[in-house]
Amino acid sequence: MSPIDLHIHSAYSDGLLSPEALCALALQKRVSVMALCDHDTLDGLKPMADAVAMCNRDEKRLSFLPAVELSTGSDGRTHILGYGASAQDERLRSAMAEMGEKRRDRAARIIARLEEQGVRLNPGTLADPRENGKFIGRAHIARALIASGVVNTMEQAFDRYLGEGRPAYVALEHFSAAQAIGMLRGAGAVPVLAHPMRMRLSEPMLTALIESLHSEGLMGIEVYHPSASRRDIRFLQAIARRNGMLVTGGSDFHGDKGLRVTLGGLPSGWRSWAEDLTALKTAIAARSA
Ligand code: AMP
Ligand code: MN
Ligand code: MN
Ligand code: MN
Repeated sequence: MSPIDLHIHSAYSDGLLSPEALCALALQKRVSVMALCDHDTLDGLKPMADAVAMCNRDEKRLSFLPAVELSTGSDGRTHILGYGASAQDERLRSAMAEMGEKRRDRAARIIARLEEQGVRLNPGTLADPRENGKFIGRAHIARALIASGVVNTMEQAFDRYLGEGRPAYVALEHFSAAQAIGMLRGAGAVPVLAHPMRMRLSEPMLTALIESLHSEGLMGIEVYHPSASRRDIRFLQAIARRNGMLVTGGSDFHGDKGLRVTLGGLPSGWRSWAEDLTALKTAIAARSA
């Protein structure tokens, strides 16, 4: 278990836990540095900062970095984390509000597609996406499919219905990676490429992609993610070192049982985490100055 986890989701996007519950779990797992990276929303940042402050009222036990995760590119598979993102930045806020609308429309279309397949969600398993103005993602629909007895696991829900190319897949319109990087930098944030190995590119393709995004302003690579093997970690570290990029790590914890991802569950071997964290914080301070 790592004492640092820079990639966590809360119930403000598609995680299951509240900021308070994340803090309690962090204390239990001895994770002392966290970054909240909810998808397409800044709404959880203030509640998370408040929950952390509450935990620290007697002694400092947790430290917290605000962040956001944006899916980008025509297929939405290039994920960019923005560390130090300000919840006050107007441009970022309005872009997130727009993504929220698109997500609600898409969810309604996914539900219609499921119905065409003869799949009905049980009442009460999913909030009406067009009604409450809240974040909705495929993870919510996957959980509703489980709760309705249609599938047994999140994995099955994506494999059978929700994943790319499956019958209820509806693409979400995304920013380009360059747009997202520019928007994050404009909001005082440090853009970092999330879970590069999840993109399933060959090593030369991934190297070319990272170097091209670096020339557009990408500043770091999420090297320590559960999707990376020891070999992948050496490969990503080398790209980061060669290009003078930051190194980060996080579990991508969402709170689902059966996904084998735990808070602080990073691949082992991140010995330089303290130095890498200092470099990240220095970069955030320079950007927001
Ligand atoms: P969305 O952003 O609404 O397109 O949904 C993508 C999210 O669904 C990811 O951030 C994960 O939380 C979740 N997800 C995607 N694929 C899977 C999978 N195979 N198993 C479990 N969760 C998944
Ligand atoms: Mn997610
Ligand atoms: Mn992601
Ligand atoms: Mn994530």
